[in-house]
Amino acid sequence: MTRQWDPAAVDEASDPDAAAAFAAAFDRLGGTLAIEKRGDEPGRDLFRELRWHMREMIRMGREVPPPQLTTGDIYLDFVDNATFNAAAIKLDGHELIGIYSGAIFLIYNYFSSFLSDPSVLPQIGNPSVETKDEETLAALRDRHLSDIAPRRPLDPTRNLAASRFAWGATCLLFLHEARHHMAGHLEFMRDEFALRDYIELPALPLSPEECAIRRALEFDADLGAAGTHMRWWLDAWGTNRIPELEALPPALSWCICVAMLYKIMDAEQMDRPFQLATHPPAIARWLYTAFTANQANYIGVSIRLDDAFFEAGQSEVVRWWNENKLPVPKSANLSSVRSAIEHVRSTYDDHGKIMPRVRRFAEHRASEIRNRYSNP
Ligand SMILES: [Zn+2]
Repeated sequence: MTRQWDPAAVDEASDPDAAAAFAAAFDRLGGTLAIEKRGDEPGRDLFRELRWHMREMIRMGREVPPPQLTTGDIYLDFVDNATFNAAAIKLDGHELIGIYSGAIFLIYNYFSSFLSDPSVLPQIGNPSVETKDEETLAALRDRHLSDIAPRRPLDPTRNLAASRFAWGATCLLFLHEARHHMAGHLEFMRDEFALRDYIELPALPLSPEECAIRRALEFDADLGAAGTHMRWWLDAWGTNRIPELEALPPALSWCICVAMLYKIMDAEQMDRPFQLATHPPAIARWLYTAFTANQANYIGVSIRLDDAFFEAGQSEVVRWWNENKLPVPKSANLSSVRSAIEHVRSTYDDHGKIMPRVRRFAEHRASEIRNRYSNP
């Protein structure tokens, strides 16, 4: 059952052993973000609420029946690091997910700036009071942002809408990380490259071979996260937890969350030729994510997933992005739909090659967790 966030709630998911493993695993990457020590109340409350929602998703994903993959005892927290990144790490038997504080800031800044533009989604709130936030746009262009947006959309509904979108995109990032654990990607990478950590955007360039495998795993994580995220978003919409976005069909608001997150991650990927990129280009990720979500079977959801929403959501984000000359890495400069399809195809082929082995790791993990729960 879906529970509501209560700001007065104490944090239920504090497992001291997992918290210690988290602190040790992320020590060299910035350490655990001390949320309670943050001086600013909006920032503190934001992190508390986000963490609660993500831990709630872990709780809800724990007892799903096979063949769905269980979240098990994944432990989530934030890393005190102002760059955009996220990582899935396994240490001393603890499955950990660290979302960097910089990822949260950047996602909130992008959406804040997006809704501050009066030409964006005029059906939300009163866009006539908005003016473009040129300062934040310039900072986004220079990739120079260190904290929560200094300026928010002026219309209260648009301000809240920006937060809801950012919340949705953050939860997609989290589900994607969870998928790296649940689908056996860490064990596979350990077996293949003796890696312990799966850091989304590694600082150092990797070999073309490792990059190709990573893109295939990213594809797998995106596919797994897409269906879950869409169901979760439609449920939030259906239970009136995103009322500021009710002017939009839920499939359209969902598309905007997804398209924006992929654009941001693309911008944060270093300028590398495709062979050395760790993630497929945003447009390719967008194409197969939309396709998967559209194919999935949403029993009990009484909305029609019209193709038009998929197109409209993506084009609203891309139009705004290009109009404001926001960063696009060289590897993402796809000249045609055909080249985007070729990227999807080559990633899909690589995915097919490694999947039989990856799935064995996932099945092994799932049965180990089921045994642990049945023999506590
Ligand atoms: Zn990933």
